[in-house]
Amino acid sequence: MRQIIKNAMFINGTKYNIIIEGDKILEITDRNPVVENIISVPDGVYVSPGWIDLHTHSFPKYEPYCSHPDDIGYKTGVTTVVDAGSSGANDIDEFHNMAKKSITRVLSFINISSVGLKVRNELADLSLISLRAIEKAFAKYPNMIVGLKARMSASVIGMNGTTPLKLGKQISRKLNKPLMVHIGSAPPKLIDILPYLERGDIITHCFNEKENNHIFSDQLNVNQKLFEAIERGVYLDIGHGTSSFSYHIAKKAKTENISFHSISTDIYEKNQFNGPVYDMATTLSKFLGLGYSLEKVIHSVTTCPAEIINKKAIGRLEAGALADLTFFTIDKEDTILEDSVGRELNIEKRIKPYAVMIGGKFYECR
Ligand SMILES: [Zn+2]
Repeated sequence: MRQIIKNAMFINGTKYNIIIEGDKILEITDRNPVVENIISVPDGVYVSPGWIDLHTHSFPKYEPYCSHPDDIGYKTGVTTVVDAGSSGANDIDEFHNMAKKSITRVLSFINISSVGLKVRNELADLSLISLRAIEKAFAKYPNMIVGLKARMSASVIGMNGTTPLKLGKQISRKLNKPLMVHIGSAPPKLIDILPYLERGDIITHCFNEKENNHIFSDQLNVNQKLFEAIERGVYLDIGHGTSSFSYHIAKKAKTENISFHSISTDIYEKNQFNGPVYDMATTLSKFLGLGYSLEKVIHSVTTCPAEIINKKAIGRLEAGALADLTFFTIDKEDTILEDSVGRELNIEKRIKPYAVMIGGKFYECR
């Protein structure tokens, strides 16, 4: 079926007609051909590539990391959710079954621990890190699994220090897949984690303010190591979460020209319903409030995460790409939004999802 989205407003304000054929974008044009299905959206609605949330917890099996992919996905403007390690190799079949039943595209950074988030200290037992099990999972689901996840904070690793990270990196190198590393409370210290990370790896929770273990603690050394990592091609991901995003750190990073790559939510049931995350649009609005341009904000939730997970068919709004789109408004609204440590930010513009298209199918947001 051929469809046309008429007068779609791109984020630079220019309007085009988007012609969709099947699940792909056929053409972006001023022409007005006659096609079977016409989609029109109200004036003032923007269109961007479909939003990609690089860090979510969308595996309904394990509380509280059990948001349903569609509840945090298409209903909120997100066309692709990437689960960040809720499932390990033991559950990957069940995860895949759940993923294929969702309207939202569901991908996975598989936990390097076979048990995933069945427990909270999944890296305290090194025997749960199995190259064979992970290799098998990648072989079985090469399109769904996009990388590996290791949570490197004190409550997760037990007495193991940086050993889980070393083992994770060995597997990541062997399989040539990126490793997403969660940073949090020490040990291990951030300064001991950074040297292990290579081109294509991802630091999530990059602007957290955990006691004495954030990007500005131990100023000179961490900063130096961080710049070296960024220089090598390591990505910084926001991973807002219940306790991992601080306006104070974000503002300081902006002043010191430390830029993030992707904006993600680290959403799961608790922070979805009680805040401070709520949804992707709220998270994006915070970055507008911090003074980032709409272009930077949208790039960080579309093109950039698509590049990080090496999915070339999504994250771009051009002929040949998959017809994954997000439609949204920017409403004038004076409000206050909190970060993860109770700091407040005045927000004047609020991004609100209106609808999405996933693989050529149109869905209104809730
Ligand atoms: Zn997480």
